[in-house]
Amino acid sequence: MKRVLITGAAGFLGSHLCDRFIKEGCYVIAMDNLITGDLRNIEHLANNENFEFINHDVSKHIDLNGELDYILHFASPASPIDYLKIPIQTLKVGSLGTHNLLGLAKAKNAKMLIASTSEVYGDPLVHPQTEEYYGNVNPIGPRGVYDEAKRFQEAITMAYHTYHGVETRIVRIFNTYGPRMRLNDGRVLPAFVGQALRGEDLTVFGEGNQTRSFCYVDDLIEGIYRLLHCDYVEPVNIGNPDEITILDFAKEIIKLTGTTQKIIYKDLPVNDPMQRQPNIDKARELLGWEPKVNRAEGLKITYEYFKGLTQEDLNKVEHKNFDEYVK
Ligand code: UDP
Repeated sequence: MKRVLITGAAGFLGSHLCDRFIKEGCYVIAMDNLITGDLRNIEHLANNENFEFINHDVSKHIDLNGELDYILHFASPASPIDYLKIPIQTLKVGSLGTHNLLGLAKAKNAKMLIASTSEVYGDPLVHPQTEEYYGNVNPIGPRGVYDEAKRFQEAITMAYHTYHGVETRIVRIFNTYGPRMRLNDGRVLPAFVGQALRGEDLTVFGEGNQTRSFCYVDDLIEGIYRLLHCDYVEPVNIGNPDEITILDFAKEIIKLTGTTQKIIYKDLPVNDPMQRQPNIDKARELLGWEPKVNRAEGLKITYEYFKGLTQEDLNKVEHKNFDEYVK
């Protein structure tokens, strides 16, 4: 039985990875310090004999008994608002956390896959973004703490591969959505759906002509699973190339939820990327992978999930003074 350590396991992507590896017959060690994760995302696995949870901050030394076949490093604040609120932890989990986990991978002779991001491309001047593009990142801007931590994470991962021979994989994840996103994490989809459910106006930042390309979580997990099992070491983009402006996206959410609220405009956050679309030729070629779930289908499932949350969840707006962050 393969033994897998998943960090950020109580988060959105981490919890879906736990499900997948349990389904594949693995023993899953789920690690999270619950800063942004939520135990409810993995509570259905709590009594599974092939599952254990460890509350630990991976930025601190990690002691783990037993063998390990795979490590998937998915611990990190992942929404712009989160990393503005907890910038130091964001830097540490991407740098110190990755270093600790690479050391563990080396000691256990485990294969390690790290969650990188389209944010390594910054506000991209090449469109769509290919893996060869070096990016356009402002290291001292508000997003710098996340972007540079992730860029460092890629660098140290490649160094451990080259100098220590650790088996590593790097996935560059583009905007992903689905059940278990945190309703109030500030990201655009939960923000819009939360506003619709609370009967508030939808807040579009800037004029809404910036673009994003949204991938449904099941597609992403499949891509990651295939990447882990292939022999390609350099970064691979995983995302859905179906690009849309944020204004059109707001209109789709209005239609989906049937809300009678309107769109209001707020200032565009500093260094907000103007366009983002993955070039997925590499994933297609290497992994035989491409997304299968279109936005209409994926949004419907995600909306059902959000509708099932409690009123308490809905009212727990963590970012009351959102404008403070947006400026
Ligand atoms: N956005 C918006 N209204 C919101 C939240 C986000 O218009 O209430 C915009 C944001 O400015 C960005 C896009 O939606 O251009 C996607 O933002 P998100 O925070 O989801 O992630 P990003 O892709 O920027 O990391």
